[in-house]
Amino acid sequence: MNVQILEQTPDMLRFILEDVDASFANALRRIMIAEVPTLAIEDVIIIENTSALYDEILAHRLGLIPLKTDLESFVLPQDCGCGGTNCPRCSVTLTLVKEAKEIDTQDDSVIVYSGDLISQDPEVVPVNDLIPLVKLDKGHRTELEAIAQLGKGKTHAKWQPVATCSYKYIPIIDLNTQECTVCGDCVESCPQNILKIEENRLTIQNMLDCILCKLCEDTCDFNAIKVRWDNRIFAFVLESTGALPTEKIIKKAIEILQEKAATFKAEIELIQEGEKSEGYRPN
Ligand code: SF4
Ligand code: SF4
Ligand SMILES: [Zn+2]
Repeated sequence: MNVQILEQTPDMLRFILEDVDASFANALRRIMIAEVPTLAIEDVIIIENTSALYDEILAHRLGLIPLKTDLESFVLPQDCGCGGTNCPRCSVTLTLVKEAKEIDTQDDSVIVYSGDLISQDPEVVPVNDLIPLVKLDKGHRTELEAIAQLGKGKTHAKWQPVATCSYKYIPIIDLNTQECTVCGDCVESCPQNILKIEENRLTIQNMLDCILCKLCEDTCDFNAIKVRWDNRIFAFVLESTGALPTEKIIKKAIEILQEKAATFKAEIELIQEGEKSEGYRPN
């Protein structure tokens, strides 16, 4: 298996994964979406909420705020020695108190933002301080306590570490220069503008942007262009919500995949041992 990084920022990663099949690539994608844990607000204790927003909607919005997550410092509530009763190993408390006192005109209002949450752990804070939660009118007040826990995207999307995680096959475009009349019809039809005519020749630029739609192939009356792909090479793109860096997401996903494979192997061996000791029993 080969990995080639094309582009990397703390929140975005584009890479090529070579020499694997679609089932492996898809397992990796699904684990990154659904099984790499992150912290998100799970319980909200509303002490006061005189805003126009129902408590439930406010709690839902709080749950969707991505929180910076340190996977080494926390465990899933179901794996915690406290039995998931919100001890410091499996939870973090954030508080919020905001009141609209200083409003003079009718059109004025105070907006409560994610950045107004005060966390008991300085490492566990909203990824972005400017996510609006609720608008307070004159005299309105919101006071609450929010408890964040580790969870997985397969339980609720608020625990997904990625906003996007997808892959596609790497395109291969074959040009038959003998047959090509440089008519330019395929250039017109390409939605990605990757085909160009330069110095009386058809050229391909940024081949990775090809979406394999084959419109160029359909347009060509001379069978001069063919689009295919290698089904063992994938171009991945993942965008983090900011809860975890992309590198951490992929490393954790690989770790989880290895654990799953080891468990599967151990289970198969147990079945085989059982069959050996009990002998073969047809149904
Ligand atoms: S449509 Fe066919 S012949 Fe025309 S430029 Fe494209 S590949 Fe060449
Ligand atoms: S397959 Fe589609 S995107 Fe790719 S080169 Fe042809 S027309 Fe453009
Ligand atoms: Zn605990």
